[in-house]
Amino acid sequence: DSAEDLLRIADLIRPVPDHPEPGVLFRDITPVLADGGAFATVATELAAHTGEAELVVGVEARGFLLGAAVALVAGLGTVPVRKAGKLPVVAASRSYDLEYGSATLELPAGVVEPGTRIYVVDDVLATGGTAAAACALLTDVGAEIVGFGTLLELTALQGRAKLGDLRVDALLSA
Ligand code: AMP
Repeated sequence: DSAEDLLRIADLIRPVPDHPEPGVLFRDITPVLADGGAFATVATELAAHTGEAELVVGVEARGFLLGAAVALVAGLGTVPVRKAGKLPVVAASRSYDLEYGSATLELPAGVVEPGTRIYVVDDVLATGGTAAAACALLTDVGAEIVGFGTLLELTALQGRAKLGDLRVDALLSA
């Protein structure tokens, strides 16, 4: 059953201490993606939450892998939100603070029409800065975000608080 599947998936997530810097416990989802059954379960479970969405947006870089799978299962298209400097044509750009320094995310031009209902996907919700910036990009171009889906929510970091009243679907929490 699905509770048992999720327990098995939780066991596949590899905790890596002190990556990318001392004090951070990095949750590596690579073994989940590498397991066909686990990957299919994650994509199917998140796809079940896409509801009225018309498009799935995946956030660089592991969000691309999950987002594309979720989109395919849901019968939707997918659009990547990328780190600055990668896209040839940019519709919107947003900078946000990281624990150390800052980062910029960009939305490609010409693929998200105003009013489009969007489901945003990333692998891990930590402080919520990345998800909030991705959502801000989408609202900048007039899209409507219907939910945010993630494999793992690190609840102690309170990322949900940065997302206001947006619905957050986390398959696992830690
Ligand atoms: P945040 O903006 O703090 O919510 O960070 C979320 C983004 O950074 C996601 O794209 C994650 O892939 C990555 N990330 C942040 N913290 C972790 C962590 N402890 N383990 C794995 N990925 C993380």
